[in-house]
Amino acid sequence: MRYRRNKNSIDILKEKSPLAGQLTDYEILELIDRMPLQTYAENAIILTKGEPANSLMFLISGEVNIHLNEHRIAKLTQGDVFGEAMFSDQGIRIADAVAVEPTEVLLFDLSTYESLLRQDIKVALKCKLIFEQLYKHNAMANEYFFTKDSAKYLALVAHNEMKKTLVRFVQSHVKKINKFPLVATGTTGEMLYKEAKIVLTKKVKSGPLGGDQAIGQMISTDNICGVIFFRDPLSAHPHHADIEALGRLCDVYQVPLATNPTTAVAVLNYLADTEQYEPPLVNSLLESYSQQQAQVVQGESSQSQDSP
Ligand code: PGA
Repeated sequence: MRYRRNKNSIDILKEKSPLAGQLTDYEILELIDRMPLQTYAENAIILTKGEPANSLMFLISGEVNIHLNEHRIAKLTQGDVFGEAMFSDQGIRIADAVAVEPTEVLLFDLSTYESLLRQDIKVALKCKLIFEQLYKHNAMANEYFFTKDSAKYLALVAHNEMKKTLVRFVQSHVKKINKFPLVATGTTGEMLYKEAKIVLTKKVKSGPLGGDQAIGQMISTDNICGVIFFRDPLSAHPHHADIEALGRLCDVYQVPLATNPTTAVAVLNYLADTEQYEPPLVNSLLESYSQQQAQVVQGESSQSQDSP
């Protein structure tokens, strides 16, 4: 591992990076001493959307393009920082970063951060604040790209006693599973990455902390094509209401839901086939609900016209 404490990189961080004017010269030196220098060849993929966001980078030389859903959303040059989703709630990379030419970066990873926290908590917290603000600023500037999500995700969830079963299921159907953009609840997602090298497109919170509801919300915006949720039928769960709600929304929107490996095979095959051949089914439940609600609105407005 090479560390770069030379005038060039000090000047870049001091003058061109988001740290400019925010950290003293001494603090910048403290930081630089903890960051290894990494090099990338032309066209190398530096970061991939969906991976755990456990580092960020200062661009020292070269050029990097940031891509999101086939759009180039930024072209980065010397001093720019990328990978700042490390300091977001999402916990995963939200875009791809590709080296346009041979590129050098200084790596700020978890060990850099931990070592700063131990040695100089003031600098660590200053950095955290700067990177959090940078993330928010960039997310707002690119809101259009971030909010316009028309993808249809396959959702993967498993209760603790069923996580191993899900990992094994995914491992033996990895080709089919990887055809879909994937979303998973927090712990399931981490386990799938660690044990089966499954890279998610999106991760939501842990199920009991709102993750099941977040997937339900994605169903309501037509972003889920199927749910594989290996529920543990032999234990009680504090978030029972959320589990029920997710299953209910699958029924409302007619999203295929598999709760055990046998059904999951059927759902996977169905999804792979319908994608190619079948037109979407008409959801009569949704149609009659919208008509009924239209009558409710109609009834309300005619009553308010009648009242003196
Ligand atoms: P988890 O959530 O993946 O964060 O464990 C699963 C669940 O809904 O219980």
